[in-house]
Amino acid sequence: MHYFNTLEFAKEQDVLDVLSSFRNKFHIPKDKKGNDWLYFTGNSLGLQPKSTQKYIQQELEDWANLGVEGHFEAKNPWLDYHELLTDKMAKIVGAKPIEVVVMNTLTTNLHLLMVSFYRPTKTKYKILIESDAFPSDRYAVASQLKFHGYSDADLIEWKPREGEDLLNIADLEMIVSEQGDEIALLLIGGVNYYTGQFLDLKRIAAIGHSKNCVVGIDLAHGVGNIQPNLHDSNVDFAAWCTYKYLNSGPGSLAGLFVHEKHAKNKDLPRFAGWWNHNKATRFNMRQPFDVMEGAEGWQLSNPPILSMAAIKASLDLFDEVGMDALREKSEKLTGYFEFLINEIDSEDITIITPSNPEERGCQISIQVKNADKNLHKKLTAQHVITDWREPDVIRCAPVPLYTSFEEVYRMVSILKELLKKE
Ligand SMILES: *Cc1c(COP(=O)(O)O)cnc(C)c1O
Repeated sequence: MHYFNTLEFAKEQDVLDVLSSFRNKFHIPKDKKGNDWLYFTGNSLGLQPKSTQKYIQQELEDWANLGVEGHFEAKNPWLDYHELLTDKMAKIVGAKPIEVVVMNTLTTNLHLLMVSFYRPTKTKYKILIESDAFPSDRYAVASQLKFHGYSDADLIEWKPREGEDLLNIADLEMIVSEQGDEIALLLIGGVNYYTGQFLDLKRIAAIGHSKNCVVGIDLAHGVGNIQPNLHDSNVDFAAWCTYKYLNSGPGSLAGLFVHEKHAKNKDLPRFAGWWNHNKATRFNMRQPFDVMEGAEGWQLSNPPILSMAAIKASLDLFDEVGMDALREKSEKLTGYFEFLINEIDSEDITIITPSNPEERGCQISIQVKNADKNLHKKLTAQHVITDWREPDVIRCAPVPLYTSFEEVYRMVSILKELLKKE
């Protein structure tokens, strides 16, 4: 057996890992004997930073002690609280601060963005989406079509080729060159939730723009995982949730990106509320609506501070680590996971995620031929937490912020034993 395929080697990698101490900054769920679960579902719900409680506690205390005065007098005044998140969030997605805001939830943000950026005309009205889009995105897009008087027939799908799992960007190029004159909007998942494929956003933007299509990206599986360089990619807009890799808690608020080129365009149609009205005159009431510049110009309501406090706790951690260092570890850790899976002597398992590290984040999707959900249940019974997607795919995310090489080794050992018994 290869030396790399030993517990000893895995432990050595943990000693060499400059980010290994960050694991202690998270609550890791434990079994009844007090052993840590092997948690590989940070792509669904990230674990809780130990600091989160303190951040939320601060706001609860300020609310208890100050009531409405907390808007101005809290340690972090609530009136501007969202601004405390902007710079760090912008860094994570490679954007300028004016391009980013934290607000609402992901699907809501996609709708608000489509209000502004899906503007169908008589001849240019179709929407293009990847065939394996996350269900919520697909429903959102289909409902926008319907809202404007169109139907599912006006939804164009970018599909993997026959017998393949991954998307081929040459196919997107072909669809857009042939049908682009009828397509108003491309809405694409930057990292596919199912295969883990990370697409070339800059190229997608260029392809869409070559036919004057608006290009929007869902970054739910990208944010805090890969480095999307949103500004340079030149996509028009993007949205993402923060409860997956950004560890901000179930159902927490989402992020929104609108490219700087649209920042000062006050004529873009959009929905309004008091929170996208000019901050300087917001409380004068009865002023004619005066929209804010940049991404803040899509806000509607004053935001939930308790949820924002959890996001702040997480973003402060990400800022301490930095995405460059996180990606560096991520590539090693996922590469190690991939290596160990490939070492399993079984014809039944295939990794469907791209093998090129530049075309994936940390997630590895494993297809297990002839398996059924029982395999997933057996993993869970041993406190190996993974995600099962019908018919036969296990999605696993060794999240670099809190997963060790030893855990990756142990997880694959358990999977290997189970496959022997199948
Ligand atoms: C997780 C996820 C969602 C969830 O949407 P919510 O509005 O946060 O419930 C939507 N789209 C994608 C691609 C996702 O990965």
